[in-house]
Amino acid sequence: MAVLKIDNLHAEVAEEGGEQILHGVDLEVASNEIHALMGPNGSGKSTLAKIIAGHPAYEVTDGSITLELDGDEFDEEITDDLKEWDLLDLEPNERAALGIFLGFQYPAEIEGVTMVNFLRTALNAKLEEREELFEGEDEEAEDEEEATNEDAAGYDSSPMEGPEDEGEVGVAEFQEILQEKMEQLDMDEKFANRYLNAGFSGGEKKQNEVLQAAILEPEIAVLDEIDSGLDIDRLKDVSKGINALRDEQNAGILQITHYQRVLDYVEPDHVHVMLDGEVAKSGGPELAAELEDKGYDWVREEVYEAA
Ligand code: ADP
Ligand code: MG
Ligand code: MG
Repeated sequence: MAVLKIDNLHAEVAEEGGEQILHGVDLEVASNEIHALMGPNGSGKSTLAKIIAGHPAYEVTDGSITLELDGDEFDEEITDDLKEWDLLDLEPNERAALGIFLGFQYPAEIEGVTMVNFLRTALNAKLEEREELFEGEDEEAEDEEEATNEDAAGYDSSPMEGPEDEGEVGVAEFQEILQEKMEQLDMDEKFANRYLNAGFSGGEKKQNEVLQAAILEPEIAVLDEIDSGLDIDRLKDVSKGINALRDEQNAGILQITHYQRVLDYVEPDHVHVMLDGEVAKSGGPELAAELEDKGYDWVREEVYEAA
């Protein structure tokens, strides 16, 4: 069980005189819930997503982001309580290790790395970071592991082989995980052996994003416009993957989208409207339909009337 809590979040662009973008965002996403975050262009949706993940371009000036995790998963001594992590104190890779997933960062500059190797490296990096967070650190072991990880990053010419770290998910074991996830997502096996820089189409990138999420098994997945630019068949595939994250893995989903269309396939439990850097209105699935129908202006009017 996990709960992501965003409370009164204020943030600005991290530069001299940087513009304030978030003006007090409140939002809570728990395991097994699907939240849609909607709102007009420029309202701050992507900024919020990046700040949750720890993007250095933004500075949080007020408020908090915490992740509560069920203790029994990692330490018997804190079994019954939810352990609360202050995400703003953690590096992006530590947040990822706790189970925060933000869409695919495409490492397009890496030559000759297959999807399968990229995904295995990502999984092992997460598991390693997790161990450090939960079990305390042994500095020497850490240094050694880091050195090995560079080798594992896939720059080697024989990416399917090579030494494996102790505790790492090995090549054979990973193949099984990958196969299972790809079957869950109805994905073509040949995807996995494609190279990262081999010209994935927009739709294939999105599908890979869902595959990456499925493999990393996040507690909370933040998906920013994963539906944009997809034709209807691909939209259905991607939606199936998002639903599987919730149904099979119990993940909480924060689905950022412009369009109501994807919400026909990924049915949200909660819908939020972001306006001018705040969550201006929240409701159930019917709110998305209302927005589709009437646009955002009426929400804006409602907010100003109330103020
Ligand atoms: P959305 O995803 O809702 O369309 P964004 O979060 O991308 O909106 O952007 C919100 C506002 O913040 C926009 O006006 C955008 O120009 C501005 N903004 C976002 N990131 C930066 C940045 N790194 N530097 C300057 N302005 C930014
Ligand atoms: Mg507020
Ligand atoms: Mg955006």
